[in-house]
Amino acid sequence: PTGAREIASLTPMMRQYLELKALHPDTILFFRLGDFYEMFFEDAIRASELLQITLTARAKGSEKVPMCGVPYHSARRYIARLIEQGLKVAICEQMEEPGNGPGIVKREVTRIITPGMVLDEEVLEPRASNFLAAVHWAERGFGAALLEASTGEFFSVEVATAQELVEALSRVDPRELLVPEGQRSAAEVAFLTARLPRTPSVTELDKAAFEAPRAALYLKGHFSVASLEAFGLADAPLATGAAGAALRYLKDTQKTNAAHVDRLSRLERAGHLLMDESSRSNLEVLKTLRDGARKGSLLGVLDRTATSMGGRKLARWLAAPLCALPEIHARLDAVEELAQKSVWREELTTLLKEVADLERLCGRLSLGAGNARDLRALAVSLAQLPKLSAALARCSAPLLKALAGPLSALPELAELLLRAVVDEPPVTIKEGGLFRQGFHAELDELVALSTSGKDYLLKLEARERERTKISSLKVRYNKVFGYFIEVTNSNKHLVPKDYIRKQTTVGGERFITPELKEYEEKVLTAEERRCALELRLFEELRAQVVAAAPRIRSAAEAVATSDALLSFARCSAEYGYIRPVVDDSDVFSITAGRHPVVERVLSAGESFVPNDVQMSSGEAQILVITGPNMAGKSTVMRQVALTVLMAQAGCFVPAKAAHIGLCDRIFTRVGAADNLARGQSTFMVEMTETSHILHHATRKSIVILDEIGRGTSTFDGLSIAWAVAEHIHDKLGARTLFATHYHELVDLAREKPRVKNLCIAVKEHGGKVLFLRKLVPGGANRSYGIEVAKLAGLPQEVVARARDILQNLESGELDEAGRPRAAVRRGSRVAAGQLGLFGGEASGGATPEVPAVPPAQQKVLDALRNTSLDTTTPLEALNLLARLQKEL
Ligand code: ADP
Repeated sequence: PTGAREIASLTPMMRQYLELKALHPDTILFFRLGDFYEMFFEDAIRASELLQITLTARAKGSEKVPMCGVPYHSARRYIARLIEQGLKVAICEQMEEPGNGPGIVKREVTRIITPGMVLDEEVLEPRASNFLAAVHWAERGFGAALLEASTGEFFSVEVATAQELVEALSRVDPRELLVPEGQRSAAEVAFLTARLPRTPSVTELDKAAFEAPRAALYLKGHFSVASLEAFGLADAPLATGAAGAALRYLKDTQKTNAAHVDRLSRLERAGHLLMDESSRSNLEVLKTLRDGARKGSLLGVLDRTATSMGGRKLARWLAAPLCALPEIHARLDAVEELAQKSVWREELTTLLKEVADLERLCGRLSLGAGNARDLRALAVSLAQLPKLSAALARCSAPLLKALAGPLSALPELAELLLRAVVDEPPVTIKEGGLFRQGFHAELDELVALSTSGKDYLLKLEARERERTKISSLKVRYNKVFGYFIEVTNSNKHLVPKDYIRKQTTVGGERFITPELKEYEEKVLTAEERRCALELRLFEELRAQVVAAAPRIRSAAEAVATSDALLSFARCSAEYGYIRPVVDDSDVFSITAGRHPVVERVLSAGESFVPNDVQMSSGEAQILVITGPNMAGKSTVMRQVALTVLMAQAGCFVPAKAAHIGLCDRIFTRVGAADNLARGQSTFMVEMTETSHILHHATRKSIVILDEIGRGTSTFDGLSIAWAVAEHIHDKLGARTLFATHYHELVDLAREKPRVKNLCIAVKEHGGKVLFLRKLVPGGANRSYGIEVAKLAGLPQEVVARARDILQNLESGELDEAGRPRAAVRRGSRVAAGQLGLFGGEASGGATPEVPAVPPAQQKVLDALRNTSLDTTTPLEALNLLARLQKEL
């Protein structure tokens, strides 16, 4: 904002400000000035708008500069708001007491808070992890490192495709993306961020930090190891580069040695049930599609945890359920035991409620931040752990029993902290008052000295009143003069000769005496020494906590696990879930299954209609579900996916009975509304996702397809849907639910043995439809679109006209646009033996007469039939469709 010549004319403080700002150009600089953090220039204009605080001006030599400020004690709130907007805040503190020595106060940026680098509890969401993702990519693939600054969790990934990268990143929902400076085009980065659940803010870091050899050295230095092999990084240069960059960013922004980051593990795909990001968001696993809220999502229903650590753990379990039977059974055993014992559940919950966020407390203290309140919270929490440990040791489920060990590992630290820190310590660590009496002998002495000194001064005051007969005489204190005696103007004549005048004020005069100064010395030095000693003791305790950090983290992990299991058990017991049989079969079978979220949000008077669903790769592999809109097709399909997900996360499921053959991936292709923002056409997105499914689904996968082909014309759409279903049947063998309003699709069941038709029962009564929500065998014979349109309040005459058109269409008098025509397309049926596309009415069994296909259409059909969807890219598919359409 200021040219070189102008800088010379600035006040020294403004010059200091601009120097610091130049070092941190991409941040909002919070410049400490006494009790305020001030912002200037552009920062002030921006911040005052975002924070809705008053913009003022400060004289800068001859002109004025825009300025605004926030009180330092409430700064966190404001910082949180700026971070939420994706901004970064550099905190610049005064590094010395003002007024000591000439010149301006020394100031330094002590840390930089960014969306991915947050430590303050007030800025962090307690139940959500706050990850930074460093991403590095080259021709051969992608490397990423995921770092949670507040807890020290640190993972790396190296994968071949962008899809896999997005999958890995989505699991932790990063807030900030760190990329090498100038190496990647903005479009490439935007491609990535647009595919993540929440668009992260993007930060560029010197690309040298991402270079593998350099990063490897840096990591080895940090972890004090000779080789990175143990971290799984031996043959992963891209992941190594990303990990090095992430750690460097943490240390540089937080100005710390980051001792709490003491492990780094490969984020493994194996062992987990895979879900791509669109499936996870379509199924509303962690948040709703509509407003991104936790409430209304699966997590919102299942999270009954008592601690935020447990809440974060549960979210992670749902984001990445298991795919290994022993682990799933271990969790189910634990949940079963707790689900059966309501007394134990209550007891454990009561204990857990007293446990603070150990992971983040430990992280803050390890980073050299934190105060005595953190130590106190840690003390109280650690003191709960032996009780928790004993309670878990009683359990017979091995997973629960195993948690008892790590929880009993810290009794001395708990005892020490409890003995040391007062019940309600102050926020600041510099002004004493942190420790209990009896904790430290020297400290007790200093405290006694300063309090007895204060007593002495009170006595002195009384004595001087007596001697001078000035009843209003006061001993007072201020920072400039120290202790002094104040006498009002009306009593001036009574002041004794030995008083030394120091200052005249409006109302009176201030004096000192040698005796007063002597005691002042004692009190103040005792006070000063006391504060210094307390600070030192605090730092010693903090060092002990840091030394115990690995054990604290193991305990935290055990707390989180027990809390998450307890939450599953609580839901299971209270919502009437049952233990699913999970095995290696290819079955999916639920009796009287319910949708875990919908059943909880139905309003009073409504009740959820349970449904049976039976699938298996060998028999009922593809279920085609027909039924009008609003009948409940999506609900039942999502219910299937969520049931699998819950079971493999180790939770009981909402049903009377459930048998689930282990599933390796869940694929869903449901409505595309959320993708519009990504600038692709709905149909293109739909086809891209479908092709992804066809390329990746295996016999062990579960595939949910909702209304495939909706984004194009009816005939295109139906043809595609048909071909996709055939491919899944013939080639993939994946258990599939296929909802469609093309009731023609029910004919597929005649040709393909493992395709079964289901529909959702609907009752017609006096021209109205009633949704029974019951899944029954067979195909729907009509689509009821008009009835639904009527329910939605379409004007009466439009509804009536629609009925007419439909009737005409069905009797073959009009074309699709409602215009009369001679040869109606619907009438030209394909020979049943050839394709079976429109062969036969869904409702009846009678085969209708089969007119010959006109040659033009035959050509189109042949072309369609000969296209291999395996090898067709979405773009080619589109082009093909365009060509076919022209030929018709
Ligand atoms: P479709 O996919 O067929 O258009 P949805 O699955 O979206 O229909 O269901 C429409 C509405 O019906 C949902 O909002 C849900 O509240 C309700 N619903 C669906 N299935 C059931 C059920 N089994 N019991 C009670 N209500 C249901």
